[in-house]
Amino acid sequence: MAEYEAIRYETPAPGVARIVMARPEARNAQDLTMTYEIDAAFARAGRDDAIKCVILAGDDPHFSSGHDLRGKAGKTIHDFEQISHWGAFDAGGAEGRLAREMEIYLGVSKRWRDFPKPTIAAVQGKCIAGGLMLAWVCDLILASDDAQFRDPVIDLGACGVEWFAHPWELGWRKAKELLFTADWFSAEEARQFGMVNQVIPRAELADKAVELAARIATKPAFALKATKLAVNQMQDAAGFQNGMNTVFAWHQLCHAHNMQMFNMAVDPSGLAPSVKGRTDARLEKKG
Ligand code: ZN
Repeated sequence: MAEYEAIRYETPAPGVARIVMARPEARNAQDLTMTYEIDAAFARAGRDDAIKCVILAGDDPHFSSGHDLRGKAGKTIHDFEQISHWGAFDAGGAEGRLAREMEIYLGVSKRWRDFPKPTIAAVQGKCIAGGLMLAWVCDLILASDDAQFRDPVIDLGACGVEWFAHPWELGWRKAKELLFTADWFSAEEARQFGMVNQVIPRAELADKAVELAARIATKPAFALKATKLAVNQMQDAAGFQNGMNTVFAWHQLCHAHNMQMFNMAVDPSGLAPSVKGRTDARLEKKG
């Protein structure tokens, strides 16, 4: 049976698969291994006709701290079977970074959002930046009462994460406020925005997610697919995908700007002190 390094694949109830991010020591930061394993797990659940609903969860204490930019054990994108046909991952200038982010961020987010069976994110603890993307691509979001959300990438000189669903998830004005300030928002606030379906006591989150998924899994499979895609396509007709593609270019422009200004893809003034120390040393060497 295929096994995984960064996730677990479970079947906690009839008709239900659960993909569990299992890097709690790294607060479930999403590295390349996790990205490709989540994609493989969705493929497995998609091809298994017995599975009708998929839960995406993370081992305690936190759902996801976002993208892990370090890469595990020196692995590069070439160590994995690539999903897109874009290529040019090692190209210079803006080209290589755009290619990589199209593959591992925008591309997989689109695939998982349009995965043709209902999906439920079960979110506890902190859900930051790239972690939001993981929750947002799911159809339903159940959050523990102590869940906290935040996209702080403006501090790193970028206009939000690569999957720019903020205006759709938070509402136009709240999206601006929370992007400009990089402030945290709570599970209850997220529920009020319409981003979170239900707020659940933390101890009950996992069971409630399975219960809901199992109920959904009793419905006719084809009607579930049709219903999901009907809503997604209505959202696309309202501009969702087009907007996402356009804003991805702004995100890449921010990276390119930072490369020109600081010789790195992010503005170093927003980095954590530990990371910044290493970065400053590197910049001094280059300078
Ligand atoms: Zn980026």
